[in-house]
Amino acid sequence: MQRLIHNGAGDAPPTPSAGHSPGTDQADGGALTRLLEEVARRVNFSDDAAFYISGPNGKILFISAGYHFVVGPLPKDGQIANDVFQFICGNGESYTRDEVIDTGAGGQPRYVRSFHYPLFDNAKALLGVVGHYVDVTGQVAATIHAGQESSRKHDQLRASSDLFWELDAEGKLTALSDRASDILGKPALLFVGNELGKIGCFIERSGADAQPPEGFSRHQPFRDAIFVMQGRNGQPHYFHMSAVPAFEPGSGKFQGFRGVGVNVTERFQAEDAAMEARRKLEQTTEALLNRTIQLDIERGRAENALRAKTEFLATMSHELRTPLNAILGFSEAMTMKLFGELNEKYTDYADDILKSGRHLLSLIDAMLETAQVDGSDVSLNLQQIDITALIEQAVSIVLLRAEAKNLDVSKTAVQTGWRVKADPLLATQVLVNLLSNAVKFTKPHGAIGIEITADVRDGVPVAGITVWDTGIGIPPEMHNKIFDKFVRGHDAVAYDDAGQGIGLGLHISKRLAELMQGSLRLQSMPGHGSRFTLELPLVSTP
Ligand code: ADP
Repeated sequence: MQRLIHNGAGDAPPTPSAGHSPGTDQADGGALTRLLEEVARRVNFSDDAAFYISGPNGKILFISAGYHFVVGPLPKDGQIANDVFQFICGNGESYTRDEVIDTGAGGQPRYVRSFHYPLFDNAKALLGVVGHYVDVTGQVAATIHAGQESSRKHDQLRASSDLFWELDAEGKLTALSDRASDILGKPALLFVGNELGKIGCFIERSGADAQPPEGFSRHQPFRDAIFVMQGRNGQPHYFHMSAVPAFEPGSGKFQGFRGVGVNVTERFQAEDAAMEARRKLEQTTEALLNRTIQLDIERGRAENALRAKTEFLATMSHELRTPLNAILGFSEAMTMKLFGELNEKYTDYADDILKSGRHLLSLIDAMLETAQVDGSDVSLNLQQIDITALIEQAVSIVLLRAEAKNLDVSKTAVQTGWRVKADPLLATQVLVNLLSNAVKFTKPHGAIGIEITADVRDGVPVAGITVWDTGIGIPPEMHNKIFDKFVRGHDAVAYDDAGQGIGLGLHISKRLAELMQGSLRLQSMPGHGSRFTLELPLVSTP
C-alpha cells in the first residue's frame, strides 16, 4: 500500500529529445523502444535503480528490476499515480514526492522519494513519464533522530533554566518560557513578538541602568549579564542572562539569540542584606568611635576640672587654716585665761569662738579629703593586714565615746586571724567613720558590735567587716542617697552632740573602700538599727 506524504514541483525535466514523431497517444512496441532509448540516453540509471517508464497516457510500460525492491508490486491499474500524472499534464514540469511505504505486520515503514520526469518531443507533446524511486529511510531516520535529540536538549534547557527565551534576527521574542508568566503576571506568550526590553532591562550590580551586553550587538555569546524584571507587585526579580547567537546552517546568516536566565533574586537579596548589615555596623562603629572620642575629650575635661578643683581646695584650705589656727589658738588661750581673768560673758564667747573654729576646721579637712578621694588623689599603701588588729585599733578610738553613752560594746571584740589586702590607715579611717556613726546614732544603753563574714564577689573572695548598732536606723528610700555628698538624715542633727557632722563621712568611706578594691554596703530599717559592711579582698584565713 502506498501513501502520499509530500509532493511539489521539483527540478527541471530532462530535455526532450529530437527526431520522434509527435502526437503518439498509444505507445506500441516501437514507441516503447524509442522511449527506452531516449531514457537510456538522457538518464544514467544504475543497474539496481528502481524506475518505471509510462506512455503519454500514464500507463506504465516498463519497470526496472529494482522497482519491486524499493516500491513493491505494480499498481493494480497499471497507471502512474493520478496526482503525479495530473501535475505533469497540467504543468509540464517534473514532480517530486515523498511516500511512506508501509511494510505491514509491525515492520518499520520505508521512506521513498520519487522523481517523475515528463519526456516531450520537439513539438512539446508528451512522450511519456520516467519515474525514479530512491529509498531514503536511512536519511529520514537520521533526521528524525537529530530532531528528537535537539528537542530533548531544548526541553532539558527549558527545565534546567529559570527563564528560557529566543529572539529572532530583529531582536523580537519568538519564545519565552512559562516561568516568565509567574513573574510578569501575564501569559508569557503575550510577550512574543516584543523586544526583550518589554519584559525587563539590563542593569549594573549597583542597580544603575546598563547597556545590553556587547555580545548582543556583535552577535556573540554573552554570559551572566544582569537582567531585572518587575514582578506583578512591583518587586524586582534578578536574572543572570546568558545567550548564544544562532546562525543559519550553510549561509551563516544571523537568525537571532537563544538564551537562558538564572534567577539570582534571593542571592542578590542576601548580598544586599549582608551589605546593609555591614553598612549599619560600620555606621554604628563610627558612631561608637565618635562617642568614645567625645567621652575621652569630656573625661579629659572633667579630670582637668577635678584636678583644678582639688588644687583650688588644697590652696584654699591652706589659706583658711592659717588664720583659723590663729583664731583657735587665741580663743583657746582666752578660755584657758592664760593672760589673766575674763568676765563670764567673754569666757562664753571665747568658748563659742573655739567650738565654731574647730567645726570650721573639721569642715575644711572633710572637704579637702572629699576632693582628694573623688579625684582619686589618694596614695594607696596596700598591705596584707590582720583584721583583728585593724578592728581593735578602730574600736579603741571610739571606745570612750561609746562608754560615755553607756553603750554595750562587748560584741566589738573579734578574733579571726584573717588577713585582708588594704591600706591600714584608710581601712582604719573607714571603720572609725562607721563606728562613730554607730555610736552617734544609737541612744544611750543601746549596743554596737562587729561581725566578720566571708563571701565571694565577682569570683574574688572578700572579708566583710560589719559594724552594727541598735540605733535609729535608716529608711529604705535613703539607702542609696546616704552615700552621696552632704546627705544627712532628718534626725541627724538631733544626734550630733558635737555638731561636727556635715554628711561627708559615708561618701568618703565608700570611695575609700572602692579605691582598695572593696565596697561598702548597708542594711537598715528605721527603729531596728543599722548594719554597714566594709568588704575588702580576703588574702588568707588560718
Ligand atoms: P554625718 O555623720 O556627718 O551626718 P555621714 O555621711 O557619716 O555624715 O552620714 C550621713 C547620714 O547617714 C547621717 O547624717 C545619718 O542620717 C545617716 N547615718 C549614718 N550612719 C548611721 C547609723 N549608724 N545609724 C543611723 N543613721 C546613720
